[in-house]
Amino acid sequence: MTAPQSKVRELLATLVGFDTTSSKSNLALIAFVEDYLKSHRVGSLRIPSPDGVKANLFATIGGSGNGGIGLSGHSDCVPVEGQRRTSDPCTLTARDGKLYGRGSCDMKGFLACVLASVPLFKTRALKELVHVIVSYDEQVGCTGVRPLIARFGKDLPRPRAIIVGEPTSMQVIDAHKRIDVYRTRVTGREAHSSLPALGVNAISAAAALVCELDRIGAAVAKKENDPHFEPPYSTISVGTIKGGTAGNIVPKLCEFQWQVRSLPQATPGEAPRELAAFAEKALLPKMKQVTSEAAIETTDTNTVPAFVARKTSEAVALALKLTGAKETQAVSYTTEAGLFEQAGCPSVICGPGDIAQAHAADEFVSVEQLDACMAFLAELVRELGA
Ligand SMILES: [Zn+2]
Repeated sequence: MTAPQSKVRELLATLVGFDTTSSKSNLALIAFVEDYLKSHRVGSLRIPSPDGVKANLFATIGGSGNGGIGLSGHSDCVPVEGQRRTSDPCTLTARDGKLYGRGSCDMKGFLACVLASVPLFKTRALKELVHVIVSYDEQVGCTGVRPLIARFGKDLPRPRAIIVGEPTSMQVIDAHKRIDVYRTRVTGREAHSSLPALGVNAISAAAALVCELDRIGAAVAKKENDPHFEPPYSTISVGTIKGGTAGNIVPKLCEFQWQVRSLPQATPGEAPRELAAFAEKALLPKMKQVTSEAAIETTDTNTVPAFVARKTSEAVALALKLTGAKETQAVSYTTEAGLFEQAGCPSVICGPGDIAQAHAADEFVSVEQLDACMAFLAELVRELGA
């Protein structure tokens, strides 16, 4: 038996109705989930963000103690600004077997399926606990879930396996890449643009650094090859750049953000080291001839660890059994699974929807995918049934 499709849709519509873009509060969504769980006599614990504007939620069905299966999803979504769309992103809209709305795929669809299954988890006497984990700030470097994980085995039970329901089209994912996010700041010297030799052009130096990053990236692509991943090598990408104040001033400052998505087996930190060596050799000596204040500094602003499930992972074995899949896959995007695994909780990624629709304009999840997820959760109930 699975939970009714109409209930999943109703819950998904409510969840999509909360604008939980990462930059905004998710407390209204958390309060809704709390109340919903309470209506099914499931207590939950809020783990607020340091500023109190957001919160994680941790709920346990079926008793207390360590062990049990965690069902984990993030509540936040990427922004919709600048994306063309045919319907309001916070109103769930059905068209041709697809349910459109921001977060429908990534990953409110999974949360709706889990919540709709709570009555099933409650009515059966399960021999193991089921934990519902809802996090914040996943889209901005998986930062929200970290204080929650730090409490595993202390005042929160430590699940024996965690299923992270990111959109995988219900495929079983047992590995993903790592991300390191960097900010490079170039300091030069201002001058009138009619006398550029008196200044140090920070934008020109930054441009040379960006070109060098492309060169480093191309060299890495030639060196590495792991066919589990697509692309089969680590990648480097510059995301933003800003600098300068006016067209007639030699710019003093320029800053750009970039990231490395590396294979789990790659040595982290090589790209910033190579970039620093290039700056030291090719740029800084000339810049410092004009001003001693010239500088190129790279800061590591965030890291999301790679995820590699152990060969004997209980979580992977469980997901393979529940889906009936014969093999696992690896992906190039990151999730909270690496952090869970690092904390000693075997994890697996498996959830409804296609990652191609996540973050995209007109994001949707298909009804078929939600049905597959409901069947997966019904199998979990059967597996855990006494
Ligand atoms: Zn996601």
